[in-house]
Amino acid sequence: MSRVMPESWPLPELNEKTRPFFTSGCIMLQICGRCGQTQHPPEDVCFACQFTEFNFTEHQGTGTIYSFTEIVYPIHPNLKAAVPYLVALVSLTDAPDVRILGNLIDISPDEVRIGLSVEAVWSEVRNEPSKDVYLLPQWRRVSKNTA
Ligand SMILES: [Zn+2]
Repeated sequence: MSRVMPESWPLPELNEKTRPFFTSGCIMLQICGRCGQTQHPPEDVCFACQFTEFNFTEHQGTGTIYSFTEIVYPIHPNLKAAVPYLVALVSLTDAPDVRILGNLIDISPDEVRIGLSVEAVWSEVRNEPSKDVYLLPQWRRVSKNTA
């Protein structure tokens, strides 16, 4: 699966809060151990009740485009070869208040619409020098045959 960011691009540190999302190969979200609030990105404290203990639960990996943009200007020299590319903010089907940012792939800018159904696909990236393997979500239009 192609990826916009170059292999040398820095990735977030893996720790007990970030590892489930970045290494599981599914949309793994933090759930408050007291009130059940789903939140992303993972934090130390629940946004709803300020509790500090969490579980992680797997979500479907489908959603709709809440917002998107086409990146045409490379903000970093390493991105020069990648532009133009699309980035989408996706509202999850089973947690609509949670929105996940990712590249939007296999679609042209004139085909993208707010509300378009998308599914997560996974880009495997090895972080240097830690050698940790990340599975980063990207978004692809759900085909009409499987929607
Ligand atoms: Zn809570």
